[in-house]
Amino acid sequence: MNQKPAPEAVDCDTPEPTQLKVAEARKRLIETVSPVTGSERVDLRQSLGRVLSTPIQSALDVPAHTNSAMDGYALRSRELSGNLDQLWPVAGQSLAGRPFTGSIPTGGCVRIMTGACVPAGTDTVIMQEQTRASDGGIRLLKQPEPGQNVRAAGEDIRRGDLVLKPGHRLRAPDLGLLASLGIAEIPVIRRPRIAFFSTGDELRSVGQPLGPGLIYDSNRYSLHGMLQALPVEILDMGVVPDEPTEMKSAFRQAAAQADALITSGGVSVGDADYVKATLQQTGHINFWKVAMKPGRPLAFGQIDDCWFFGLPGNPVSVMVTFYQFVQPALLRLMGTTPTMPLTLSAQTETPLQKKPGRTEFQRGILSNSRSGRLVVNTTGSQGSGVLSSMSRANCFIVLAPDQTIVEAGAEVQVQPFHGLLD
Ligand code: AMP
Ligand code: MG
Repeated sequence: MNQKPAPEAVDCDTPEPTQLKVAEARKRLIETVSPVTGSERVDLRQSLGRVLSTPIQSALDVPAHTNSAMDGYALRSRELSGNLDQLWPVAGQSLAGRPFTGSIPTGGCVRIMTGACVPAGTDTVIMQEQTRASDGGIRLLKQPEPGQNVRAAGEDIRRGDLVLKPGHRLRAPDLGLLASLGIAEIPVIRRPRIAFFSTGDELRSVGQPLGPGLIYDSNRYSLHGMLQALPVEILDMGVVPDEPTEMKSAFRQAAAQADALITSGGVSVGDADYVKATLQQTGHINFWKVAMKPGRPLAFGQIDDCWFFGLPGNPVSVMVTFYQFVQPALLRLMGTTPTMPLTLSAQTETPLQKKPGRTEFQRGILSNSRSGRLVVNTTGSQGSGVLSSMSRANCFIVLAPDQTIVEAGAEVQVQPFHGLLD
């Protein structure tokens, strides 16, 4: 991995801090992070979600043979007399995988099924429904267009064509496409190793007893879930207490093993200053104040050659900052080019509370109204600790910095969480 200078610092402790815009923070992250090196070959079935490391060229024509798009009869269009009384004797049949190998007398045809090879010399298939059986042959109910219902060899892909580019993240249709080219082993970029831990003396992991003032660590589990959706190796380092020596050693340990480290908590202004000091001693870390809600504080930089993302502590902030910043940066790390999240316009059915100044990522439930319009409803309380708001939501309602209270019925921008084919 290339050691790059960390981007310019924007300190959140200065009295009038420069707030970074969401798009600017995202751009800086994507531009700074570089892809991991190293690739491997994986079985086609294991390649879903992985990123191609080399171009895929086709060694075959697809379709491999000129074949029929319909069940019907193959004939030579030059033998069409234009007269529907013409009798076409049937010389044999061509089934998918069992081509017709005989010869067709002048004026004859061959019974053919969908996907079967079009017999040599024939160029047109008339669909079965446009024929009738008579006198040991068939008669046509309609004059076919020459060439109709015939799929030419190489019509989809020609031998030598570039089919998929490096950096492409493989989805279900790509697996089918690669299979149709007979490719069983796929060259992919190695999975980056992502370490993560939670910081906070108040945190206990599930399975441990809670004492007074203690809470269960939820961030590590939502992070685990978000990371599992990506082609990365996951290294869960547990909870690290708010203690400088332990924190420093955790950072060092992560940096020695991982391509990136994600932490939660300990980056807000109120936190013990040593977190910041520890980080700055260990690597090049900047503390950003992003003009967004939730998730204003964000730390980003490098510890040796390990990228570092320090997310806020509040559970919703963790998820919002992960999706807006860390996920695009990780996509870059895994060798693909992140695209902007899909944004749609929807009509809000509930009024939305908003103060001017920051981009807000409110949680919403997007649906189709009875009349087919896209409508969105708030999930209710929008506190940055209200994780159930994320759990109920299927989209972010993205409100621009200058927006204030939004009336019911107004158009708002939404980012759906899932597409059909992810
Ligand atoms: P911090 O940024 O460390 O001050 O944390 C902000 C808030 O998020 C505090 O209320 C923390 O208790 C809470 N918090 C921090 N980390 C976690 C975590 N891993 N799971 C649940 N809540 C957390
Ligand atoms: Mg904390």
